[in-house]
Amino acid sequence: MTRTPFVAGNWKMHKTIAEAEAFVSGALPLVGAIDDVQIGVCVPFPSIQAVVDSTRGSSLQVYAQNVHWAEQGAYTGEVSVAMLDELEVAGVVVGHSERRQFFGETDADLRKKLPVILAAGLEPIFCVGETEEQREAGETERVLRHQVQEGLHDVADGDLAKVTIAYEPIWAIGTGKVATPEQAQEACAFVRALVAARDAEQGEQVRIQYGGSVKPENAAELLALPDVDGALVGGAALDPASFAAIVEAAR
Ligand code: PGA
Repeated sequence: MTRTPFVAGNWKMHKTIAEAEAFVSGALPLVGAIDDVQIGVCVPFPSIQAVVDSTRGSSLQVYAQNVHWAEQGAYTGEVSVAMLDELEVAGVVVGHSERRQFFGETDADLRKKLPVILAAGLEPIFCVGETEEQREAGETERVLRHQVQEGLHDVADGDLAKVTIAYEPIWAIGTGKVATPEQAQEACAFVRALVAARDAEQGEQVRIQYGGSVKPENAAELLALPDVDGALVGGAALDPASFAAIVEAAR
């Protein structure tokens, strides 16, 4: 079977509504009609409505960057799955290392988030990855195993491939220090094997993105790796032309 490549741009805390709309105007002529790659932008909450409206009918899909697991309640500053669903986003990024590091998102939170996102029919992009110290200590596989098993714990076996898993070594994020093709392939194959251990067919179907300093110059090599099905791109996804070049590299 072939897996449709999936390139998502993670804007992080960048772009006002006006800047988001300028990106969309620049990106739509370049990627708006591409149908052999799934293409997404992960947008800060205030710009979601505008970007959903301006990309409607195009190939460019809109993702949020975080969501809470509770249906509703006293969680000041948080956003629920129902609120995102109403905005007509395609899905949401969860477990990004910046949320884990700076905002205390835990494996236990992710275990609760993934099933509620799927139950709403939204697509989660679930991020995992090791720190530099963990890699140097030979702990990469232990860390990935723990993150993947915990996060996917309450996802039904038959739903595993509805999750896109982004392997993002933390030492490669925003550092310009990209993983070597060998490192990226090895880790993504390991993540796939963890899913396949739950359900062989879902392991074959699940999409695994590489993230961490993906640029137009290194994208083709990374995206050609057998177990890399796409990319989660930060810095290089802020500019329409460089984002489009990475999408082209996935075709
Ligand atoms: P980067 O970020 O491409 O700027 O390294 C990737 C990410 O955090 O998703």
